[in-house]
Amino acid sequence: MIIILKPGISKKQESSVLKEIRKRGYRPHVLRGVARTVIGAIGDELTHQSLESLAMAFPQIIESVTPIQKRYRLVSREAHSQNSTVTVGEHQIGGKKFHVMAGPCSVESEKQLMTTAEAVKAAGATILRGGAFKPRTSPYEFQGLGEKGLKLLAKARKETGLSVITELLSEQHAEMVAEYTDIIQIGARNSQNFQLLIAAAKTGKPVLLKRGLSMKIEEWLLAGEYVLSNENPSLMFCERGIRTFETYTRNTLDLSAIPIIKKESHCPIVIDPSQGAGRADLVKAMCKGAVAMGADALLIEVHPNPAEALSDGTQQVSIEIFAELMQELRPLILAAGRE
Ligand code: PEP
Ligand code: MN
Repeated sequence: MIIILKPGISKKQESSVLKEIRKRGYRPHVLRGVARTVIGAIGDELTHQSLESLAMAFPQIIESVTPIQKRYRLVSREAHSQNSTVTVGEHQIGGKKFHVMAGPCSVESEKQLMTTAEAVKAAGATILRGGAFKPRTSPYEFQGLGEKGLKLLAKARKETGLSVITELLSEQHAEMVAEYTDIIQIGARNSQNFQLLIAAAKTGKPVLLKRGLSMKIEEWLLAGEYVLSNENPSLMFCERGIRTFETYTRNTLDLSAIPIIKKESHCPIVIDPSQGAGRADLVKAMCKGAVAMGADALLIEVHPNPAEALSDGTQQVSIEIFAELMQELRPLILAAGRE
């Protein structure tokens, strides 16, 4: 921590601050300038008591207290300088190969899921998405098929060979969801539900952590820390748009999160362009931007008939548009140095 003292502080006042710093387990180093004194307090900021409250304890003496260490540790690139990869079946997410996870917002029926699964596989997707437990804003909207939906996903996996990702909404379903899925999705509305994060981590399945609706990147990284610190090394971050004042889109997809997460963390970053803007007509462009900016994978909503979808109809692309998109992405994936 860096502690800056106010001008004209006496030796006696300085000593009282130094005493308190030592009491909290830090070693103080005093740098006396012409007008000001700066104290460098050496010690592990994550395990020692914080010094930030010192400014309140000594308001006449201390001007500011600035932490140096980051609040997250295991997710940080300092802890692990190489990119980490997440193993899902035979796939490695975060490695050389670029992955596309695609499928309906919600699992609605066997026919809808199987048609979509076969189509996204033929177009080059490696992972099938589909919500069985849906976090709907209104309790009167379609809530998902629950375990029946999970069973359909497992059937689609068996028949197509695709891996599966689905959302875990409640701690009480952790074991059940983990039985059917290859990746557990933690949705935007639950991204700071820490008990749910711990329950997801403890299943041992890879976890895809969406960014919350109004979540700062530091909060997102700290939420990810809950997964890694519960002995689950397989974490992916997923940017899915944040809430802003803009009304042309449902959310504002923050593509700057890609290089920021890459810089701060070793974990893969996935982009969800579907929740990202809430508009199917913008999905292609956002996917291209995400590939160019260094994302490791995409999570895209695809429906055989978006106009009749039971959830998120305006943002799901048709099977035909998805196939076109996959073709259009090819040269960009290669240009980004991926396969
Ligand atoms: C979804 O993927 O369908 C979903 C509900 O996502 P989010 O949690 O990002 O809103
Ligand atoms: Mn959706």
